[in-house]
Amino acid sequence: MLKGLVINTQKNIYNVKTEIGVLRCTLRGKLLKNRQDITSFIVVGDEVIVEKLQNDIGIILEICERKTKFCREVTEGNKNLEHIIASNIEQVIIVCSVKNPIYHLRAIDRFIVSAISGGIKPIVCFNKIDLINQSDLESDINYFKKRGFDVILTSVLLKESISELKEVLKNKISVFSGSSGVGKSSLINSIKEENIAKTNEVGDSRKKGKHTTTSSLFYDLPFGGMVLDTPGLRGFRVVDKEDEVKNSFQDIQDLSQMCKFNDCSHTVEPKCAVRDALDNGEIDEKIYKNYIRLMKSLK
Ligand code: GDP
Ligand code: ZN
Repeated sequence: MLKGLVINTQKNIYNVKTEIGVLRCTLRGKLLKNRQDITSFIVVGDEVIVEKLQNDIGIILEICERKTKFCREVTEGNKNLEHIIASNIEQVIIVCSVKNPIYHLRAIDRFIVSAISGGIKPIVCFNKIDLINQSDLESDINYFKKRGFDVILTSVLLKESISELKEVLKNKISVFSGSSGVGKSSLINSIKEENIAKTNEVGDSRKKGKHTTTSSLFYDLPFGGMVLDTPGLRGFRVVDKEDEVKNSFQDIQDLSQMCKFNDCSHTVEPKCAVRDALDNGEIDEKIYKNYIRLMKSLK
């Protein structure tokens, strides 16, 4: 028995990276019988226990518990369901563009909430910084830093910033997220260098030339670490939950325990510790306003 990582899925075949190479696996019958939700039963990033049968063929015996979940929201009928795209991702690089198109703080906040709700570390990446004066960004960089989030500044035209991005990605399992046109593909291309291996192509010679429709797949980074490349990233809806919004504004969350009312919305209630802190300048007005806006949008 071997431990492995599901690096890509195709119908009922799962490519699993193990210490002896990539095995093409099916599911053990018993697991098949138990499965309820076919689409999210096994996803890329899942850790599994496999047995090698012959050559590069194997069978998945067991699925290990998921440490994190990278989700998007899908609508079925009138219900909103969470659809797991990948598991065990360590960090989401939330890419936004400082110009063409210009970012909206609220959109970045929603990506943060979505990451936190899956247990994943969000990292805010302001891209295309070659197009503006960095000093114009100060206030919005602080908006995120004050809340405890890492911020990086990138431009595909500035080599130094790409080295910084590589440092962030090194030895981590990451995914890029953000609206379309912000430069995700360009950034991924600039970190790939020439010798990057599409992990799932290793030891898969029989499939050569055949068109395979893959859901998502991992890239091994030449300097250590992996990046998930998922075609479904374009314009997917993020998962919004009240608790996670609150968790992404830690200062407000901490203060709210001192509000008179447990369910204080920090807008009109008397004896509100959050608004007191706002009046005293202990809380940034921008942070407060965006928090209120985000909470309202959930209702
Ligand atoms: P994606 O949709 O997020 O994958 O965005 P793309 O990577 O396709 O980039 C969208 C457009 O922005 C392309 O025309 C890129 O050339 C351009 N772009 C991406 N990164 C940068 C950058 O750092 N600086 C500038 N000036 N343009 C960029
Ligand atoms: Zn309050």
